[in-house]
Amino acid sequence: MRETTIKVDRKRCEILCVGTELLLGDILNTNAQYLAQGLSKLGLDLYVQTVVGDNEARLENAIHLAMTRADILLFTGGLGPTTDDITKEVAARCFHRELYMDEDALREIQDFYALTRRAMPVSNQKQALMPRGGLLLKNPQGTAPGCMMTSDEGHLAFLMPGPPREMRPMFDNEVAPILARYSNGGLYSKAVRVVSLGESRMAEMLQDLIDAGTNPTLAPYAKDGEAMVRVTARASSKEEAKAILDPVINEVLQRLGRHAYGVDVPNLESVISEKLQQQGLTLSFAEAGTGGLAAQRFLSCELAQSVCGPGLSAMTTGQLACALGLMDALPENTAEACALLSQHACKHFGTTAGLCTLVSGQELACAVTVLGETRQYAARMPARGADYYRTQASQAALDMLRLMLMDREA
Ligand code: AMP
Ligand code: MG
Repeated sequence: MRETTIKVDRKRCEILCVGTELLLGDILNTNAQYLAQGLSKLGLDLYVQTVVGDNEARLENAIHLAMTRADILLFTGGLGPTTDDITKEVAARCFHRELYMDEDALREIQDFYALTRRAMPVSNQKQALMPRGGLLLKNPQGTAPGCMMTSDEGHLAFLMPGPPREMRPMFDNEVAPILARYSNGGLYSKAVRVVSLGESRMAEMLQDLIDAGTNPTLAPYAKDGEAMVRVTARASSKEEAKAILDPVINEVLQRLGRHAYGVDVPNLESVISEKLQQQGLTLSFAEAGTGGLAAQRFLSCELAQSVCGPGLSAMTTGQLACALGLMDALPENTAEACALLSQHACKHFGTTAGLCTLVSGQELACAVTVLGETRQYAARMPARGADYYRTQASQAALDMLRLMLMDREA
């Protein structure tokens, strides 16, 4: 097939967040996250985010660089009244646009001060400066209006204030409707959630799909004790997105088999709660050295109240045995001790399923009993710290329970 030249008419965006406090790490750059999510919902391409301090020369450089690689520049910060707020002045210079005093904007700022019965500082006047040919973006939440301007080369810039409570409504109400014209269709994505398989092994199993993916694209992620693959389609409607996503999701599920525990589900515990409810089972907990993490994880599940019974949390399995009224000595083997404790938790609490976890140093053990059938597991973990051990233990126990419930469905 003969190569043809494809005209690139897709607009590339760049986010530029201005503020030395961001570079110092005093302020988390939540504006970038908000804008990035907004652009992705609008189906606009974002390849670079920039953070730059309140410094004229460096800001000017950052803008010139952004103009070489993006068509739409979204700024936040530096629109305030003080001398370190320079975004508008510098951006206007880079775009070769003169600033003039916008009388309407000035009146709005004066009205704001009149309303709050305060004298308007002279420095606030500069917030009413607007680039010629630009468009004012209203800011009902504060004094600094935003603005939009274009360059002779066809760049588009949106300047928004730094405070998130002002920036967010300005983006949603003023900027997003304009940007929607440049949309290449929305982005739709689904997340396949995975346990007992590291991110790299999962990626290996999906490598050809990841390599081939343009629409949809596949992105593997590592999460706490889990992995996830996000499948994203660009489409002009939900129905079109579904047609693109469904076959690929099915292929992913087939390849990952039992390692995949759900698509677009909140978490592992909610999937388990649903299975427990479907099978009419109730679950109790006996946890040593995990601070009751397995039980805690069910707290925010909607169904938890109807499927979760009581639980015990202690430092050691010996303490658990004592509290459960278990008279016999516990087996030396930690997995066997957990097995006995999970069976005993069912009896003691009157539940049909019982889950036991143990973290002791770098040793992990767990066991699950469902209607008299018990499975157990033990492993040694790499030195990663207490949070990691607790997460791994609860994750191993929950996944064991999930698999037992799946086997009962089969
Ligand atoms: P500015 O408009 O640059 O004067 O910023 C005013 C305030 O908005 C800052 O002191 C921060 O508290 C907040 N802010 C500025 N930029 C960001 C950002 N990118 N993300 C979150 N908050 C920000
Ligand atoms: Mg600032």
